[in-house]
Amino acid sequence: MGLNEVRTAELKKSCQRIPAYSSALGLYLHVPFCSRPCDFCAFFQVQTDREGILHYIDGIRREIELVACDQEIDTCFCGGGTPSLLPANDLLELGNLIVDGFGQPRKEWTVEMAPSSVKADKLRVLKDLGVNRVSLGVQSFDDGLLEALGRPHTHSQAMAAYELIRNQEFESVNVDLMFALPGQNRAALKEDLNRAVALNPDHISTYCLTFEEDTVLYVKLSEGKVSIDSDLEAEHYEIVWEQLGEAGYEQYEISNYAKPGKQCLHNINTWRMNDWIGLGPSAASQFRGVRSANPSDLNRWQEDLESGERSSEDSLSLTEDLLLEDSVIFGFRMNEGIDFRDLSTRFKGKKIDALRSRLDAMLTGKLILREGEQYFLSEEGRLVADAIGAEIMSFA
Ligand code: SF4
Repeated sequence: MGLNEVRTAELKKSCQRIPAYSSALGLYLHVPFCSRPCDFCAFFQVQTDREGILHYIDGIRREIELVACDQEIDTCFCGGGTPSLLPANDLLELGNLIVDGFGQPRKEWTVEMAPSSVKADKLRVLKDLGVNRVSLGVQSFDDGLLEALGRPHTHSQAMAAYELIRNQEFESVNVDLMFALPGQNRAALKEDLNRAVALNPDHISTYCLTFEEDTVLYVKLSEGKVSIDSDLEAEHYEIVWEQLGEAGYEQYEISNYAKPGKQCLHNINTWRMNDWIGLGPSAASQFRGVRSANPSDLNRWQEDLESGERSSEDSLSLTEDLLLEDSVIFGFRMNEGIDFRDLSTRFKGKKIDALRSRLDAMLTGKLILREGEQYFLSEEGRLVADAIGAEIMSFA
C-alpha cells in the first residue's frame, strides 16, 4: 500500500471511535492570568495580583449562579491564560465552584498548565478534585526557540513539570508543541518531536505558528524581522504527521494526535457543534440555541456580574443552516470528516442534499475522499482544510 492508502485505512479505523452529535454538554473556564504575555499570543490575558485573583474567583461564583444550569456536564476544560498560575487553594476553590454548580464532569476534566508554574501541591489538589487530564504548554524543548517565542520557561523546567504531572498519575497528559517557528529548521523540529515522544504523553497537540494582530511577533513581522514561509509550514506539517504517526500517535484532527482512546473529548464535543458553556472573560458559549462570547475585558465582565447580569460582546441565535455550516467546516478538520447518517438525523433542510451533491462533485479533485456515507480529507486536503471548508460552504 502507498502512504496515502495506508493513511486512508487508518482514517477508516479511527472513524469508528469518535462519537458523533449528541446532547453532551461541555464547560469551558477561562482563567485570564499570565505571568507575562508570550510574543505570539492573542488570547485574552492580563497580569494580576492577589486582589485580582480573589475578585476573579468571586466573578466566577456569580457567573455560575447566573447560568443556573441544571444539566450535568460531560466535560470541563480549564484554559487560559494560565490556570496553573493560581495557588493551590485558589484552584481548589474554583474546582469546588464548578462541582457545586454543575456536578462532577462525567467524562473528562482538563486543566492547562504552564511549565514554570507546575507545583506538586497544585497537582494534588487537581487530582483530588477529579481532574483526569492535564495539558502542558511546552511549545518547544529548545531554549533558543522558547526565548524567540517569549515563553517564560526553559527546557529543564518543562521536563521537571512533566515528571511532577506524571507522578500524580492523571489518566491522560497532553503536551502542546508549536512548529514553523522563526529559526526552526527540519532538524530542530524533529528533535522537538523526538523529545515529546520520549516523554510518552497520551496526547500531543501541534500548532503551526500564526501571526496574530496585536502581538509582539506580528510587530516583528511588519518590521521584516521575521517572515512567513508557507513552504516551510507545509513541510513541517508533513514532518509532524509522519513522525508522530510512526511513534503510535494517531492524528484525529489537523492539530491533534492521540494514543488510542485518548482523544480530547471536550474539543471533539465543540467541533461536533454540541453545546458548551463558557465562563470567565472572553469565554465563548454555545448553549440552548444561542452562541455568545463574554466581554474580553476583566473589569467589564466583573462589573456586569456584580450588577446581576451576564453580558456578552456577541450574541447570535443559532439557525440550522449555521450549525450545518460549522459542522462541515469543523468536521473536515477532523480525520473522520463528516458522516451523512449523523448530519441527516440532525439537519432536515434542503441544504443537506445540496451539500452532498457539492461534495460528490469535489471527489474528482482527490482532496476529499468518500467511504460510504463518510466524507473526509486526503492528506493533501488536510493541508488546505480551511480553504476546502470555505469552498464547500459556497454551495449555499
Ligand atoms: S501562557 Fe498561554 S495564554 Fe499566557 S501569554 Fe503565553 S500563550 Fe498566551
